[in-house]
Amino acid sequence: AAALAGTILTGCGVLPGSGGDEPAAAAKAAGRVALLLPERAASRYDAADAPYFSQRLKQLCPGCEIDYRNAEQDADEQLAQAEEALEEGAEVLVLTPVDSAAAAKIVERAHDRDVPVISYDRLVLGTAVDYYVSFDNAKVGRLQAESLLSALGGKAGSGEILWINGSPTDNNATLFKQGAHATLDGKVRIAAEFDTPEWNPDNAKAWTARTLPSLRGRDLVGVYAANDGTAGGAIAAMQAAGLPAVPVTGQDAEIAALQRILVGRQHMTVYKAVRMQAEKTAELAFALLRGEKPEAGATVDNGAGAVPSVLLDPVTVTKETIKETVVKDGYVTPGALCAGA
Ligand code: BGC
Repeated sequence: AAALAGTILTGCGVLPGSGGDEPAAAAKAAGRVALLLPERAASRYDAADAPYFSQRLKQLCPGCEIDYRNAEQDADEQLAQAEEALEEGAEVLVLTPVDSAAAAKIVERAHDRDVPVISYDRLVLGTAVDYYVSFDNAKVGRLQAESLLSALGGKAGSGEILWINGSPTDNNATLFKQGAHATLDGKVRIAAEFDTPEWNPDNAKAWTARTLPSLRGRDLVGVYAANDGTAGGAIAAMQAAGLPAVPVTGQDAEIAALQRILVGRQHMTVYKAVRMQAEKTAELAFALLRGEKPEAGATVDNGAGAVPSVLLDPVTVTKETIKETVVKDGYVTPGALCAGA
């Protein structure tokens, strides 16, 4: 775990093209980049990652083509999508693996054709991957844990919490979990803990619903949930059981979660500046298309060596800070927050 920490660069402008809008003069004017994203239950991929990535790449390279595919949480399907994209002439793969270990095969298929791979948001493990662009994911877990502790106040010592992690096949889920445990262990009692298959909110909801009856009569004071989707599942199950609202963590600054935060049903979320992440990745993909090998500034060990990495900084969002974080950054509009509320 410690090996994964690397040196953290925050909002670093080390990649070529950062800030500049014009396509470079001697640039390759065309190229094909495959964007392989993992799922649709979290809204970020279709709503932010894919459009911000595509817009930035088109801006740098109007003649470039983006082959966006979504594996809908199926690792075998993701391998098939990658093979098809390579067959159709992809020159760079931008890959968020459904399964961080299994995706080594995708990287090997790409490298067989001399196609570089950017591990996007989630790290591919156990094979030499070209670049990694993500956030400090152990810090995401720490921020969630610190925010939960401060919301619990004196109750941290007396009550118990439910603990819901992400998918065990996602390396990020491992890092969130490690960061949160390092902060909360010894400070609050855990009534029950769950690794959510496929990050599916329905799985988190079903687990919470079947766990609650065994906790009758105990003092349930909060929920650690790894992202907004799983938080939403836990909250729905607790509401259905007629329980009062308790502090619940989250991640992704999804509209539904921000609305729950505004009405006091969820305590916090973690905002990750996906636009910056997607744009830096588009700039990197463009550099790779042109045969460049830019400096990334940091490295992260993925079990097969040091991967050149860019790690951005996650930010805690509570009711008090929605305006100065996600709204100010343009990630959500006040209109969208109020719609349907
Ligand atoms: C991402 C989160 C997302 C989760 C589920 C993680 O790897 O970092 O932003 O909520 O996957 O897709």
